[in-house]
Amino acid sequence: MVKKIPSATVGLPPLWMARVIATAGNIGNPEEIRKKFRKLLGEPKPKELDLNSIPPEIAALFTQQGMLQKIRKRLESITKKPAKRLAATKGRVACVDEDDVVYVGVDFLEKFKNREDLVAGVLAHEWGHMVSNLPPEQELDNMTLDEVLALCRDEEAGADAFAGRALYLMGYTVEDMVEFLKNLEKIEKKIKSKKYHPVDIREAILREAFKAQKKTEDTARRLLVTAHLGFSHAAKSRFIGEG
Ligand SMILES: [Zn+2]
Repeated sequence: MVKKIPSATVGLPPLWMARVIATAGNIGNPEEIRKKFRKLLGEPKPKELDLNSIPPEIAALFTQQGMLQKIRKRLESITKKPAKRLAATKGRVACVDEDDVVYVGVDFLEKFKNREDLVAGVLAHEWGHMVSNLPPEQELDNMTLDEVLALCRDEEAGADAFAGRALYLMGYTVEDMVEFLKNLEKIEKKIKSKKYHPVDIREAILREAFKAQKKTEDTARRLLVTAHLGFSHAAKSRFIGEG
């Protein structure tokens, strides 16, 4: 069990933070780096499914009025980072490719389409990847596989921390996402992934980040009310930009 994540990290893993600082203004081409990551980990690029080939009620989620687009708009407004498009895939929950196409699994949606808090958490995690600063390319070249995996775990933790904050800002809860991760770990126990932290750490990060964002906002609201400025939505969306 994780007793406590140091509050100084306010939901952001220290390595992730350090990397954001170290690489500020010095990032390589993010598309190239993401492509390299994928290659190092032996992950194939996700296959995009034609929306006409999937069940209509799932395809509807991808249309302009659909739930996925609604969540996407909120995440884009929080981060100012647009996705190229949302695409359907299968055999995975969700992922983002080097062109910022966000894929969501049809089988995942068939099972969980009524759990909006969970779908929002999963999408927010992918936006967490889109806004993270990756290390310069030459740094990756000099790393061992274990070092690359450690970097991946750190990247995943950063995406979870972002998801926890974004869920709060969008008005959702973290409970569905935590429950989902716990079940996922139960199912995948045998193929324990080196790419992710164990679920108790992921849970702690999600919850801490959610709380940290709430605290930030409560403090901001108090300060603004004190200054008779009111609380504008613009201020609300600014805080997460750095996370
Ligand atoms: Zn991820």
